[in-house]
Amino acid sequence: MKVTWNKLVVASGNRGKLREINVLLSPLAIEVLPQSSFNVPEVSEPFCTFVENALVKARHASLHTGLPALADDSGICVNALNGNPGVQSARFAGEPRSDARNNQKLIEALKDEADKSAYYYCIVVLVRHPEDPQPIFVDGVWHGEIILQPKGEGGFGYDPYFFLPELGKAAAELSAEKKNIISHRGKALAKLVQSMKQIIA
Ligand code: IMP
Repeated sequence: MKVTWNKLVVASGNRGKLREINVLLSPLAIEVLPQSSFNVPEVSEPFCTFVENALVKARHASLHTGLPALADDSGICVNALNGNPGVQSARFAGEPRSDARNNQKLIEALKDEADKSAYYYCIVVLVRHPEDPQPIFVDGVWHGEIILQPKGEGGFGYDPYFFLPELGKAAAELSAEKKNIISHRGKALAKLVQSMKQIIA
């Protein structure tokens, strides 16, 4: 189904993510609006999979704005922790959400583990309307390992502790441009741009 769009809403209040999404979707001639511009109420993310949480956020934003909506759900999965924090990444150390406390809990849990491998995962869902029977799903994975001492000032969340052996740097040491090319979200959104080019008239 071809569609004519000039606007879509992003179902996220996370400034770091919104910045990345805006840059990555800039090749499309579409105005990308944060859901905060529409006072969309918070929605709970009760599910144990990224895909279900992303879908509920996208539907909710579309319902409250009348616009096509894009949502991502992402997190960091640590192999020695059975994939945790996973969908709980934002509130790994409980409420109120705190990157500092989340990172502290993560390095505490991993300090005696030999295997510190981890990956960021991101799924992006786009619904044309709240009852879209055929949402677009794209995803991306970014592999690295957790370090016990932070490095770098950039990025957000777990980035100072997410080390990329092939680059010899933590994610927080990368420029925003570099991160957008190689990150889980960057990879997913690059696929989304390709899919959207097919359906935008
Ligand atoms: P969400 O908003 O429910 O998708 O939660 C995502 C959480 O995963 C964030 O709050 C971060 O803790 C973590 N996360 C996801 N992507 C990244 C990233 O690119 N860098 C650092 N942390 C991330």
